[in-house]
Amino acid sequence: MSITIEQEKTVVDGVPTQLFIGGEWRDGTGGRTLDVEDPSTGEAIAAVADATPEDAVAALDAACAVQDEWAAHPPRERGEILRRAFEAIVARTDELALVMTLEMGKPLAESKAEVAYAAEFLRWFSEEAVRIEGRFATAPNGQGRLLTMRQPVGPCYAITPWNFPMAMGTRKIGPAVAAGCTMVIKPAQQTPLSMYALAEILQEAGLPPGVLNVVTSSSSSDVSKPILSDPRLRKLTFTGSTEVGRRLVEQSAPGLLRTSMELGGNAPFIVFGDADVDAAVEGAVIAKMRNIGEACTAANRFHVAGRVRDEFTEKLAARLADMPLGRGVDEGVKVGPLIDGTQRGKVAELVADALGKGAEAVVGGRERDGAGYFYEPTVLGNVGSSARLLKEEIFGPVAPVVGFDDEEAAIAAANDTEYGLVAYVYTSDLKRAFRVCERLQTGMIGLNQGIVSNAAAPFGGVKASGFGREGGPEGIEEYLEIKYVAMAM
Ligand code: NAP
Repeated sequence: MSITIEQEKTVVDGVPTQLFIGGEWRDGTGGRTLDVEDPSTGEAIAAVADATPEDAVAALDAACAVQDEWAAHPPRERGEILRRAFEAIVARTDELALVMTLEMGKPLAESKAEVAYAAEFLRWFSEEAVRIEGRFATAPNGQGRLLTMRQPVGPCYAITPWNFPMAMGTRKIGPAVAAGCTMVIKPAQQTPLSMYALAEILQEAGLPPGVLNVVTSSSSSDVSKPILSDPRLRKLTFTGSTEVGRRLVEQSAPGLLRTSMELGGNAPFIVFGDADVDAAVEGAVIAKMRNIGEACTAANRFHVAGRVRDEFTEKLAARLADMPLGRGVDEGVKVGPLIDGTQRGKVAELVADALGKGAEAVVGGRERDGAGYFYEPTVLGNVGSSARLLKEEIFGPVAPVVGFDDEEAAIAAANDTEYGLVAYVYTSDLKRAFRVCERLQTGMIGLNQGIVSNAAAPFGGVKASGFGREGGPEGIEEYLEIKYVAMAM
């Protein structure tokens, strides 16, 4: 059944639009608001509070005021709050997905998948809250005892991007809450509604005032500076571009903050000559087209063995040509708009550069006229090695295909990037699979599958894709310090 304009308006009107500080919803002290746009129409659908630096400090004050109390809160209860929030999110999937599609653009089915993925982090960390352990050992000389305890890092500042507006939040909120850390979170200004809806759910699930504070701002730099320079802050966790990540690491240096950086990617998708080509095409559609190509894990370049390259390219082009473009709320739509005109312009520029250097558009290669920021699903063949899109993150529905001669060349091409988030490998040779996985310089690998995201696994990159891991048993470690006690006997 299609979604009506009234339904769209009702769900958006149901989301809080004020700052969430110390358990209260309040306007920004500057009295200003910030418009939220539907990228499929370019029209404003809501206006949220626009925080000032003073509001940011108030949010940090609220987090610091309850840090000690929250650290001492029974782990079981911390876990149960997360569990209740998980259940509430699942129960409200349809409305949360609609809000997400309206502010971010992805098709409803994908928003529902993100809501489920986001909720999983709360379930996972609800289970981890009661498994924070230390150890006890006899000193090697037999004279003393060595004790370790794991304690919350302290107040955290979290900054999230617009591409996964809810999951990038729960991946940080889940482990912070489970570990006993309080936090201030700043979602991207383009997609604040999903975060406010999430904060309201956590409040209703019993999260005490001040543990989570949310600020939205039209000037992320201005609100972040006073938080980052405050000596009470102990950790910065950031998901976003490498460029901004570098700047934030510099700003974290004076305070020697613990930092987690989930940054940009440039994922190679390698198809060996012995691969099941149909399975590789299936995986390629997911790895490329999930989230309209606007994912840090998106396959950015396809390295395909010479003998299967034409078959792979034709089959991938046929699949992408068959993906209807449109508003994410409309039935049958598989590809939504890009987030804004700037992002679409960047995609168009990268495609023009590749075409200018001899590539050919097997399918797509154009913006769509009219309202919204649509770009056609695109497959490019004959892409020259100097094309910028082999080196830069495309963040759009464009698949450049290049050939390779042998395994050594494939590995070298895959690693020829400053990024190192994820790689995809398709092969039916087990020994080759291990050889290649061991040599790829990435934090994650999809082996014969086009998606790696899983709340139970450590998500993260190496090189310019950052450091730190989110999800899995490793995820909570980012929010814990180890204290060692040397005990005389
Ligand atoms: P972005 O421009 O770096 O923005 C990310 C967040 O940082 C937003 O909340 C943004 O706020 C904020 N920000 C920007 N400049 C800032 C500053 N000077 N001080 C403090 N905060 C600042 O990235 P994006 O375009 O939103 O997201 C896309 C990028 O994120 C891609 O590179 C993608 O690969 C990466 N990403 C990585 C992962 C991962 O797990 N590795 C996951 C998802 C996305 P405003 O936008 O409100 O100004």
